Amino acid sequence: MNILVCGGAGYIGCHTVYELIDKGYNVIVVDNLVKGHKSSVHEKAKLCVGDLRDEKFMDIVFKENNIDAVIDFAAFSLVGESVCEPFKYYENNVYATLKLLEAMERAKVKKIVFSSTAAVYGEPNKDIISEDDNILPTNPYGETKLTVERLLKWADMAYGIKFIALRYFNAAGAHISGKIGEDHNPETHLIPIVLQAAAGKREKVYIFGDDYLTYDGTCLRDYIHVTDLANAHIKALERLVNANESGIYNLGNGKGFSVKEVIEEAKKVTGYNIKTEICDRRKGDPSVLIASSDKAMKQLGWKPKFNSLNEIIKTAWNWHVNNPNGYND
Ligand code: NAD
Ligand code: UDP
Repeated sequence: MNILVCGGAGYIGCHTVYELIDKGYNVIVVDNLVKGHKSSVHEKAKLCVGDLRDEKFMDIVFKENNIDAVIDFAAFSLVGESVCEPFKYYENNVYATLKLLEAMERAKVKKIVFSSTAAVYGEPNKDIISEDDNILPTNPYGETKLTVERLLKWADMAYGIKFIALRYFNAAGAHISGKIGEDHNPETHLIPIVLQAAAGKREKVYIFGDDYLTYDGTCLRDYIHVTDLANAHIKALERLVNANESGIYNLGNGKGFSVKEVIEEAKKVTGYNIKTEICDRRKGDPSVLIASSDKAMKQLGWKPKFNSLNEIIKTAWNWHVNNPNGYND
């Protein structure tokens, strides 16, 4: 099968490309490299540099590569930035995905796996969130992803484009080979920031608020290994092929860790001290986000392999030690 991976030079995208190639898929990556890294793309994948919003470019990609299905990672994903610059998020996350769906419709490609997020839930009213719980995003980033989920539902009804939207909780860790990992610029995610502090690349970690109603006052998140996420995309593709049915699935480990617990675990993994300072809450942050992934386990047959925070941080640290400055491009 020929799989088009949009945003395949990004963090989760490049790990998914590795798993796809490992399982014998033919992979075509589209990425504008605004955030991604050319060198993160597997040598057996074909990289087409361009933007989802460029109709002519996308028509050529579909025409020349006989695409069977699409996996779409291409988006902006910084919660704080989305609060300050909502237009930028609607433009790249909603409009660009609309352009991708239009190109799919022109090319008669009817299957898509879409990167959604736990941010669609907002501040949950339950400890463990299921797919049919309340949806009320607290930031524009989550709102744009929810808008696309709804757009996908209508595209299915109107054009028969079948979709699987995967609501990831907190992606973390790196490929076990240490060849690819997380390198965002600017880095805003907790685990890479904590590891940069452990490696002496940052003076300290700022903890965004210790006055949340949690056991230690800091936010709880469900960290899920990036290779486990990557494999869920393959399960989703298989389901689209075999059941031809749209669906929405959470992906997480089902266990929450506070910001302080992540820092303590990183101290153990790295053997270094990590200085911290409490500062104000970050706007738009819900206090607790933990997944129930029962639906994905039952319907997709997915099961995360990295189910301890220690293992997840170890793979991230391995990448960090091998690539202290991230990618070269
Ligand atoms: P990333 O920024 O590393 O990757 C996104 C890639 O898409 C980048 O390579 C970027 O250059 C490319 N891109 C963006 N807009 C594009 C466009 N218009 N045309 C072509 N290419 C474009 O992000 P990531 O951390 O790998 O996240 C991947 C997806 O998963 C995103 O949609 C994100 O919202 C979602 N997600 C991420 C997390 C997480 O913890 N990282 C959690 C939940 C959901
Ligand atoms: N966080 C923090 N300091 C940082 C980065 C993140 O305290 O330098 C907190 C953030 O407020 C959130 C958690 O760590 O509660 C995870 O944040 P991240 O940005 O990694 O992922 P998000 O949950 O926003 O997708």
